[in-house]
Amino acid sequence: MIWSNQAVMGMELIFVCPEQKTAFTTSKWKVDGGLTAVSDSSGNRSLKGRIEAWCPFCLVEHTFSPDELPCPFKSTQDKQSTGGGDEQ
Ligand SMILES: [Zn+2]
Repeated sequence: MIWSNQAVMGMELIFVCPEQKTAFTTSKWKVDGGLTAVSDSSGNRSLKGRIEAWCPFCLVEHTFSPDELPCPFKSTQDKQSTGGGDEQ
């Protein structure tokens, strides 16, 4: 599955500045070249790609991996609703 830029563009996402170690939200981000969902042998899904986000602290664009983002990209991981109590 390929995520197009238009599909998610303009959504506010939370990023963590790698310089300041501080979280910020911005809608000024873009997917560089698209994101691709891949599955490993154990069935875990993750996204590969690059996301560029405008950092309000450094006033530059940082490049992030989808794995670094708390949401919504991590929601692609399968979560089974076991009724709570699952701590890992
Ligand atoms: Zn920064």
